[in-house]
Amino acid sequence: MPELPDVHAFADYLESTALHKPIAHTHVDEAVLKHGTTVQAVAGAATGNAMEETRTHGKLLFARVEKKWLVFHFGMTGHFGYARTPQDPEHTHADFELENGFHFSYIAPRKLGFVDLTDDVDAYVNEKKLGEDALRVSADRFVELMQNRRGGVKSALMDQSLIAGVGNVYADEILLQAGIHPKSQVKSIDKDTLRTLHGVTQRVLKEAADRQADPSQFPTSWLIPHRQEGAACPKCTGKVQRIEVNGRGTFVCHICQNKIS
Ligand SMILES: [Zn+2]
Repeated sequence: MPELPDVHAFADYLESTALHKPIAHTHVDEAVLKHGTTVQAVAGAATGNAMEETRTHGKLLFARVEKKWLVFHFGMTGHFGYARTPQDPEHTHADFELENGFHFSYIAPRKLGFVDLTDDVDAYVNEKKLGEDALRVSADRFVELMQNRRGGVKSALMDQSLIAGVGNVYADEILLQAGIHPKSQVKSIDKDTLRTLHGVTQRVLKEAADRQADPSQFPTSWLIPHRQEGAACPKCTGKVQRIEVNGRGTFVCHICQNKIS
């Protein structure tokens, strides 16, 4: 499922393909629109204009067309395509046909993402009750948010209303790098450790985004390329184990990660 680093990579992709290129025709599948937004509204905003800039917030990507912003959420397996003929027409739910003859496509095989339209990015983020973006939240605010939260640390990191952008895969990476077991109780983690967790969260997300969220480019000390029961731990001589945390498959190293309870 696309998380913050993937969404940054999608923003880079949009900027290197469709940015500033006039849109000749817009085709949107009504099924992917949210919150009463109509096909006509999206086509009216996009056609005749170009995507001029991008913004991201957590797992959301915004692309400005004139005065409005297209909103993209990528669900489980969503992504963009850019080609002379749409690469995956069956799963293309929004297609921006550019004047240069290329198609910029929003492709979502499992239909769990959405496309939307807004006048104001900040208001949209507030309306959707999203927490601060995980790469922009300050250390003080991060500690404050975590300290007011009950339950396990992995669930807290993944709670989009607290901090937006971290999902199942990056939560495991962050917690391995921080040496904290995912079932640790947040209220039992001291302030200094929470500050360390904030630093590790931002370092992991930034490094992944800088590498276009491509696991083959990740540091050898990272868990993501080794998410498999019994794989060698990338940080010690132990083995990676698969456990369940709130029903989500979670990969841990019991040597590297301490349970704080
Ligand atoms: Zn280990």
